[in-house]
Amino acid sequence: MTDTRSPRTIAAANGIGQDAAFGAVAPPIYLASSYKFGGFEQPGAYDYSRTRNPTRDQLADTLARLEGGAGAVVVASGMAAIDLVLSRLEPGECVVAPHDCYGGTQRLLNVRAAKGQFEVVFIDQNDAAAVDTAFATGRQKLVLIETPSNPLMRVVDIAVIARKAKAAGAAVAVDNTFLSPALQQPIALGADFVIHSTTKYLNGHSDIIGGAVIAAEAEDAATLAAWANVTGVTGSPFDAYQTLRGIRTLFPRVESQQRNAEAVAAFLEAQPQVKTVHYPGLPSHPGHEIARKQQRGFGAMLSFELNGGLEEVRRFVNAVRIFTLAESLGGIESLVAHPATMTHASMDPQARRTAGITDTLLRLSVGLESEGDLLEDLAQALKSAGIGAEALAR
Ligand SMILES: *Cc1c(COP(=O)(O)O)cnc(C)c1O
Repeated sequence: MTDTRSPRTIAAANGIGQDAAFGAVAPPIYLASSYKFGGFEQPGAYDYSRTRNPTRDQLADTLARLEGGAGAVVVASGMAAIDLVLSRLEPGECVVAPHDCYGGTQRLLNVRAAKGQFEVVFIDQNDAAAVDTAFATGRQKLVLIETPSNPLMRVVDIAVIARKAKAAGAAVAVDNTFLSPALQQPIALGADFVIHSTTKYLNGHSDIIGGAVIAAEAEDAATLAAWANVTGVTGSPFDAYQTLRGIRTLFPRVESQQRNAEAVAAFLEAQPQVKTVHYPGLPSHPGHEIARKQQRGFGAMLSFELNGGLEEVRRFVNAVRIFTLAESLGGIESLVAHPATMTHASMDPQARRTAGITDTLLRLSVGLESEGDLLEDLAQALKSAGIGAEALAR
């Protein structure tokens, strides 16, 4: 969708002051499930809210403009958004997915593949030979990309994979949940679809579950919208209203949280209790250069490995006061998660190890609190973790 306004303006102002009924400045919410016909055989613009709803359409229009797509479909969760894209596949066709993708995505792909609905291969998308091998089968129809990845923050070059996928006849879908369109716009880099768990940065206030797919082509958007109506996965108007309200402050939120995350990453990197920090903004990060090229910022998510073992992890997460031990990410509050027992617990332990998710890996979603308070909280929790002199010397 060509919109000459900057994404910052679109986020703050799309749909503002457009209410035809009463001139409401904020777009009103339409909770109605059904809409009156003008007369016999005269349906209006809307008839039934599973199919279309004005509030959900307002959010879809804003998301399409923010991502530079032709259209968007708003659904009930991030998982529903991924499943909606997977609905394009026929039995025998293959999905090429990252080996370190979101745990729920991995589970969905495996369950559907086990039912014979499509095939799936999990590869390291930074391994050029593995990518070429996956594309050589001729059956690949869809490449799923998640960058930066969860929870190790690995970065893959979207433009490079998209070029190879196009040459092999496969569509490209990028899960852009970790950065949001404020920091990365995959369609401009060659993606056909962008997926969001709007639960995260787009809504940003940790009070709804939602998802969306943005399509580069209008025809693809229409196909997905029709399928979402068939299966009934479309999102609720209330959640769409909340999400649109959250998007108004997307840019300032993400920018402030990112500043805090940069400070947290630098702090952790200097602590003897910390073995490694995974943050694309650190020059030591293997994906730093690609991130600089394809992202507008490094985001507010990071992970790190603690020295020691599970006991030290337990003491650390029990000691934090400002960071809350919880799943999810992208809200205004700082969270800490232990992927091995939380977000990635459904993953087979072997697959987890292959993906590099160790038992002492912790993931942080850095929020809007003051930088000083966040660093102080981490410092006292690292002290409370009681990591022995032997581990500190490693
Ligand atoms: C949370 C998340 C999902 C799933 O979204 P839900 O809204 O929880 O269904 C998918 N991908 C990524 C990267 C996520 O962080």
